[in-house]
Amino acid sequence: MFLLRLTVIIFFIIISFAQSAFCANSFRVKDLIIDNSDRIIFIGGEGNFQRPKEAVYVPIPAQNQNSNSVNLITNITTFTITSPFRYVIDIPNAVLDGASRTYELKNSSIIKSVQIAQFSSNPDIVRVVFTLNKSSDMSKFKTYTNGKNIVVKYGSTIIDNSIKYKFYTPSGDMDKFTKAQNTGAVLTYNNNNNTLNLIPRMQTKYYLSKVSQNSDGLILRGIGSISFQRAVYSADNKQATLILDNATLASKLQDKTYNVPSSQKNEKAYLTISAYTDKKIKLTLNGDTLRDYRFVVSPDGQSLFVSHRSYIINTIFSSDTALVNSYKMQKTSQGYSIFDIVFNKAVTYDVFELNDNFYIDINNLGDYNELLFKQMLKTTDIKVQALKISSDKTRFIIPMKDLNFAYANVESNAKSIQLCFKDKPVNVPKQENEVLVSSNNSKNSNINVTYVPKEDNTKIMYNEKPKKTSPTISAMKKVVLDPGHGGSDSGAIGGGLYEKTLNLEVAKLVAEKLTKKNVYVYMTRSKDTTVSLEDRTNYSNEINPDIYVSIHTNSTVQEDSYGVETHYYKDDSYSLAQLIHSKFASAKNLKKWETKDRGVIKSRFYVINHTEAPSILIEMGFISNTQEREKLFTKERQEQIANSIAEGILEYLKVK
Ligand code: ZN
Repeated sequence: MFLLRLTVIIFFIIISFAQSAFCANSFRVKDLIIDNSDRIIFIGGEGNFQRPKEAVYVPIPAQNQNSNSVNLITNITTFTITSPFRYVIDIPNAVLDGASRTYELKNSSIIKSVQIAQFSSNPDIVRVVFTLNKSSDMSKFKTYTNGKNIVVKYGSTIIDNSIKYKFYTPSGDMDKFTKAQNTGAVLTYNNNNNTLNLIPRMQTKYYLSKVSQNSDGLILRGIGSISFQRAVYSADNKQATLILDNATLASKLQDKTYNVPSSQKNEKAYLTISAYTDKKIKLTLNGDTLRDYRFVVSPDGQSLFVSHRSYIINTIFSSDTALVNSYKMQKTSQGYSIFDIVFNKAVTYDVFELNDNFYIDINNLGDYNELLFKQMLKTTDIKVQALKISSDKTRFIIPMKDLNFAYANVESNAKSIQLCFKDKPVNVPKQENEVLVSSNNSKNSNINVTYVPKEDNTKIMYNEKPKKTSPTISAMKKVVLDPGHGGSDSGAIGGGLYEKTLNLEVAKLVAEKLTKKNVYVYMTRSKDTTVSLEDRTNYSNEINPDIYVSIHTNSTVQEDSYGVETHYYKDDSYSLAQLIHSKFASAKNLKKWETKDRGVIKSRFYVINHTEAPSILIEMGFISNTQEREKLFTKERQEQIANSIAEGILEYLKVK
C-alpha cells in the first residue's frame, strides 16, 4: 500500500514541474480525438517533433525498470506504470498548447482518463498519460507516429500498423453540430480545475470531413473506417451511387458537388456528397462515362480516392507492395462460391463490374504468385483470371455468366479479401438476376462490402436479393447471433459433452431459418473457434444490427436444476427478451420438453451489457442435468429450440 502511494506522489510531482515552455521549432500538441471504436486516440498538433539530426538525451523516468539508462530521443518514448495502470507517452521537442488538462472518458471500457502536461521544458517534452481500467491489457497499447501526428491504438483496430500512410486528424475541423452529437468526454484544465470544454467522441465508425481535389482525382478523407455498399449504376449508366455505411458527414460538406478530373477532354464527371440518413453518406457520381471511374479504398480504410481509371493505373497508392500468401476457392453446400485471397500486407483495392465480368484490382500487388494461383484453379470450375495490369497492380477477373456477385468481405487489417458468388438459378429469367447492370435504384443493390474484424471467427451469411415486391436492402433486418464459448473455451461440460458444441448447432439452425426469411444474419463464430467476449461485442457494434442474440446452455453444481432462462440487461432489451422468451418458453414447449420456465432475468452479462443493439442471452437448458442434457443433444430438440427462437426474432423484427 505504501509503495503504491509513493509512486503516485512521485509521478504527480514530476507532472507538476511543468513549466511554460519555449521552443522555436517544435511540435505544438493541440488536441485529442477519440474515435467511436474506443480503440484509437489521435494526438493532434502542428509542426514536427522528430529531430533526425540533433539527438537529445533524456533519462527514462524513474518509474521505469531500467531507471539508470538513458534514451535517445529522436522519436516518442512510451512506457507503462502499474498501480494504477497507466500508459505513458513522451513526445520530444513538443510544447503543449494551453494549460495541462485531463480528459475524463465517459463511455470507455478501456481508458478512464487521459492527462496531457508539459513534462519538461529543457528539452521540451509533452507527456501524455493514459489511466486505464484494471482489466485493460497494457501490452495491447501501441503507438504509431509519422512525426506529425500520433495515433494510439488499443488492440486490433482498423488502422494499419504501417506509419507510411498519412494519418489524418480532423482536429478543430469537426463542426459544432457534429461535436454536440458526439460528445462523450469531459475536459478539465488542471490548473484551475474548471470543466471548460467537451471533446468529441464519434458515434459512427467513420467521419468524413475533408475532400481534396488534385489533378488526378478526388480524395475523400476522414477518420475511422470506411465501409460501403458497392457502387450501383443507373440503367442509362449516367449515375453511380455509393452509400457509405455507419458514417457521419461534416455538415460543411453537405450537398457539395465536385468535379472529378479526367484525362479525356470531353469527359466530365461530378461527385455529390450528402448525408443519406444520420448514419449513412451518399456519394453520387454523374457523368457520361462514369463507368471509367473507380472508388479506391486506402489501406488504412480512412480515405476513398475517386478517379478515372487511367489515373489509377499510374498512381502508386502504397509504398508497401503486397504479396499473395494464399488463394482458396471453395463451394459451399448452399451453392455459394467463395474466393479467398490472403496477402502479407494491407492492400488497396477497387471493385467493379463490366460486360458480365466482375473485377477486383489490387493496386499494390505486383506479383500474384502464378504457381499458387494455378494450383487454386485446379480446385474450381470457375474460370478466374489473374492479370498484371501494371508493375504494381494486379487484376482478378471472375466471369459472371453463371454467377451473381454476392458480397466482398475485407478483413479489418486489409490483408484478406473474400469474394462470394452465388450460382444463378437456371429456372429464373436472366433479367431478375442482372441486378448490377439493370438496377436503376440505388437502394436495390444486393452488394454489401462489409468489414469483418477477424477472418476465422466471423462469417457473414448473405441472403439473395428479394424479388421485386420484397423490401429493399435498407429495410432488411440485421441480426447478430452469438453462439457462446468456442475453441479453447468449451463452456460448461456435462457427461463429456460441451456447451460450445450445442450453442453453435442451435445458432446455425436459427441462422438458417432467419436467412430463409431474408434477414441478414451475422455470426460471431461459425466454427469451433475461440472468440473473446470483447471481440464478440465489438463485432456486433461494427455490424450495427437490429438485435443481438447470444445462445448458451446453463450449468450448476446442483445436478437436479433444470429449465430455461432468458437474460437481458439494458432497458431497451426487455421487450425483446420477453417476446423471445414467450415463444421459447411457451407452455407447449415446456410441456413437450418436460422442463420449467425459470423466467426473464436482468443480468449483467458482458455480451448483453456491451452491445449497442437490444441484446439478450438465452440459456437453453441445463447441461449439468443428465435428463435435460440428453434431450438437448438431440437433433429434434435443437430444431424445436431454434424454431421458437427464430419465430420470436421474426416477430420482434416484424418480418413476415
Ligand atoms: Zn455459456
